[in-house]
Amino acid sequence: MIKVKKRKILLLPGDGIGPEVIAEVKKIINWLNKNRSLDFEIDEDLVGGAAYDKHGTPITDEVFYKALESEAVILGAVGGPKWDNLDFSKKPERALLKLRKELKLFANLRPAICFKQLVEASSLKPEIVSGLDIMIVRELTGGIYFGEPRGIKPIDNGERKGINTHTYTTSEIERVSRVAFDLAKKRNNKVTSCEKSNVMEAGQLWREEVQAIHDKEFKEVELEHMLADNCAMQLLRNPKQFDVIVTDNLFGDILSDEAAMLTGSLGLLPSASLGAKDKNGNMRSMYEPVHGSAPDIAGKGIANPIATILSFSMALKYSLNLDKESKELDAAVQKILDDGLRTKDICSKGNKEVSTKDVGDAIIACLQN
Ligand code: NAD
Repeated sequence: MIKVKKRKILLLPGDGIGPEVIAEVKKIINWLNKNRSLDFEIDEDLVGGAAYDKHGTPITDEVFYKALESEAVILGAVGGPKWDNLDFSKKPERALLKLRKELKLFANLRPAICFKQLVEASSLKPEIVSGLDIMIVRELTGGIYFGEPRGIKPIDNGERKGINTHTYTTSEIERVSRVAFDLAKKRNNKVTSCEKSNVMEAGQLWREEVQAIHDKEFKEVELEHMLADNCAMQLLRNPKQFDVIVTDNLFGDILSDEAAMLTGSLGLLPSASLGAKDKNGNMRSMYEPVHGSAPDIAGKGIANPIATILSFSMALKYSLNLDKESKELDAAVQKILDDGLRTKDICSKGNKEVSTKDVGDAIIACLQN
């Protein structure tokens, strides 16, 4: 068999159910290497609480440099009660923030897809969510979570004042808008840009710059502007009106969680965080499930690995240029849901309850066929 590609992938399982769900991705990568003439080079290391226990820090420099040199980082989840009382700088979550910030992962992609097999799990009526397929692009490294000045300081009358600054520059808005327009071109060709331009100058700038990039580079894509509070309502009223939503860090944090919940299941939701493309078209990237480390079910072999497997599928598509393999993997996930194979979190009457490992094996069996 001729080996045609060599791709470096860094797996960071992390804590709780992280190692269990990443193990299933590893199985799939090994299967692809063997059966699809691919040559993924896998490295695996500690992050989060597991790294703190061994090295006294949530991410070592060595792991950070490995991430810098990888084409894609696939992360499980970090955190858990064991590390809740650590000093802020040592908390497992600091590893995630460092990776996102230092790899300059400015665009967070959160698909909200309502699988037809799980339509009953949504809190909305089936006809409103069935077939839902939205992509939320959240700006991830700017805005009010990073703006200066910030802090809590005493003021004259004996009270205290909390300060955060919402700030965006033209280039920050342009680069995340380009990601959204490029995605829309491969989907249903529509972008909805959300801000609060009615009450915030930074929102007004956001609207103007998105419109300018559209007019200059993406005239063929439909663009609409929507106030973020209206978007929150429209997501509940008629979510299928959206294709790609692009918004800032704060509104994106909230709207992407709201959209995720329309789909009804945390165990199925993937995400991607992307950086800028270099002159060869390559970019830094990290893929992770939306869920956390689920300490309540860790070690029981019942975690749903699909969110992490779909995150890997996004890596195949966006970082590794393997669209066909990504589609095959998505189809295999659909097939096992059709077949009624479910982990406990999404299992209902008439389904067969299976383990984390069974899900990985069943997906590989589908790929095989
Ligand atoms: P969580 O997502 O870990 O769990 C919420 C609920 O969903 C739990 O009942 C859990 O059992 C269930 N659940 C989550 N993922 C599942 C899966 N794949 N299969 C089956 N059931 C699943 O959120 P939490 O309980 O708020 O947080 C637990 C820990 O995870 C905390 O330490 C938190 O800080 C951390 N966390 C990490 C990330 C991350 O690494 N990106 C994200 C969120 C929370």
